[in-house]
Amino acid sequence: DTIHIQTESKKYNVFVGKGVRNQLDTFLANHFPDLTRILIITDETVAKLHLEKLLLVLKPWEPIIYKGPSGEKTKTFEVYYDALSTALENHLDRKSVILSFGGGAVGDLSGFVASSFMRGIPFIQIPTTILAHDSAVGGKVAINHPHGKNMIGAFYQPEAVFYDLELLTTLPEHEIRSGFAEVIKHALISDARFYEWLRNNVDDLNLITLDQLSYSLIKGIKIKNEFVSQDEREMGIRAYLNLGHTLGHAIESEMGYGNFTHGEAVMIGMIFALKLSKKLLGLTFDLEEFIEWVEQLGYKTKVPNHLSFEKLVAKMKQDKKSVGDSIRFVLLEQLGQPKLQKISETILLEELKRF
Ligand code: NAD
Ligand code: ZN
Repeated sequence: DTIHIQTESKKYNVFVGKGVRNQLDTFLANHFPDLTRILIITDETVAKLHLEKLLLVLKPWEPIIYKGPSGEKTKTFEVYYDALSTALENHLDRKSVILSFGGGAVGDLSGFVASSFMRGIPFIQIPTTILAHDSAVGGKVAINHPHGKNMIGAFYQPEAVFYDLELLTTLPEHEIRSGFAEVIKHALISDARFYEWLRNNVDDLNLITLDQLSYSLIKGIKIKNEFVSQDEREMGIRAYLNLGHTLGHAIESEMGYGNFTHGEAVMIGMIFALKLSKKLLGLTFDLEEFIEWVEQLGYKTKVPNHLSFEKLVAKMKQDKKSVGDSIRFVLLEQLGQPKLQKISETILLEELKRF
């Protein structure tokens, strides 16, 4: 399957399917006739599991490899600096291409390296996690600062995305769960029928078939693209993609990254947002049934009880989306109809204590 992505600044394709990595060499030959060097940016885990398969396709180009630490640890200034040094030491130039080979963390890092190396060179995403159906599309790239996640970054679109489903088979369960939370999010904010399909077809994330996974990811990518293509730089409707993320990010950061996956934290945030939506906007939605379903899928549905509500609210205020004393929350008027709502700190704290 090929999904055409159209943003204001760029048009590119997302190729999804088993073995699509094997089309990379033709793509490179066609799109980059003057290609000088290839730098693959990956992490240790992905390198160990899958790099050989990728190198098999790219052998003629003798790619340079930069391996960062796995997971969120790769989104630091040190790793960013290191990757740039590797690029310079190996004489990459403006006719070189960076291949991002890994999950969302690697994608965010390498995209930012590509956006800033010599004021920007092309990059291609080769995502290896379910979560990356979300992060590889949309053009947001970033690293973290001790003062906050994703605080240093850019909007920078890839030349293409090669989403090879064969590479997903090695994902541990909590990573599958993490990524699938974003699939569920995409359904909730835009497509009641897709949501029903998920509810009726997915009851065990370990037993999900390749066809179901493929359908879910393609749907998710298309929905993400609908929001992004109309609002590349997040002035309006793109913000709806943050459903569950205001509280989710706060939980992630209070737990310490790595102790709780992104999607698992976002799921708790979504349940909170759905609850607020029922209370403040009269959303008609069977939340009990939803909670039962996601618990069956292995998600936690409550804020871990050692976290302080005050600290969570403080974190939410630091979010790029907060304004004054209010925090902007994505809620749902109805399934598939998101709405931005300012909620005061006081109300938020009350609701959290009740949650
Ligand atoms: P990740 O890249 O940290 O991957 C999660 C873990 O899985 C890592 O330890 C990684 O080494 C391992 N892994 C990757 N592929 C694997 C495979 N095929 N088999 C086995 N293990 C594998 O994280 P992620 O969950 O993919 O993405 C999370 C990151 O994405 C966060 O940093 C988040 O901020 C970012 N993100 C960005 C956007 C965006 O729009 N740019 C959107 C959502 C999330
Ligand atoms: Zn997310």
